[in-house]
Amino acid sequence: MRIGIQGGTFNPIHYGHLRGAEEVREALALDQVRLIPSAQPPHKPDEEIASARDRLEMVRLAAGEHEVFVCDPMEVERGGRSFTVDTLAALAGGACRGHETFFIVGADAFCEVHTWSRAPRLLRMTHFGVTLRGEQRAEDVIRTLERTMPPLDPSLRFEFAGENKAKVVDSDFFIHFVPISNLEVSATQIRRRVRAGASIRYLLPRDVELFIIRRRLYRGSS
Ligand code: ATP
Repeated sequence: MRIGIQGGTFNPIHYGHLRGAEEVREALALDQVRLIPSAQPPHKPDEEIASARDRLEMVRLAAGEHEVFVCDPMEVERGGRSFTVDTLAALAGGACRGHETFFIVGADAFCEVHTWSRAPRLLRMTHFGVTLRGEQRAEDVIRTLERTMPPLDPSLRFEFAGENKAKVVDSDFFIHFVPISNLEVSATQIRRRVRAGASIRYLLPRDVELFIIRRRLYRGSS
């Protein structure tokens, strides 16, 4: 099987995440997409973070709408801070054993991959499905990697193998670029709207919306 893996805070999961994953699934002919909420997201000031259990439940509800989307609780169950490289290693020995994996990530986040734990190893353990929105271009992303990765590992090189596909030289892995629809929805916007008592309908699955209402999430800490 070809398995997509999408991590994130999912605070909450919304149609931007889901439509992006769906367009990558279609473009790369993935058989399954595993959505993996993080246990402990990096702290951002002024941000209300729902509990790991609530975020996991929202991802479970959202994944239930699609026959090949799967909610994977591994990071929440492991607890603490999760590094992508560790998650992929665990998947390679577990749920994804014997299958090809494609780590799904936005171009903005991927341009920071040099700051991720053991980035050179990570680039040689999975394919990537990098989403491009708006003006983002594959060449710019690769140029950023060519600038930021060699200080960590001088042997890391990239080579275009088609318009939207680059090979990690001397590895079996490719970085696939997938232009996706630009849906102007973000978790920040959803949290702000809930707090202001505004509607969030059609920004995210109805079951997730109802869960947020029922659990009184994102209403402010007071
Ligand atoms: P926040 O607003 O809290 O920062 P977010 O909605 O931007 O959250 P993240 O959890 O930060 O979502 O993003 C996780 C992944 O989802 C990233 O790779 C990002 O590129 C992607 N993503 C977020 N919003 C969208 C969107 N509207 N369309 C496509 N991809 C998205």
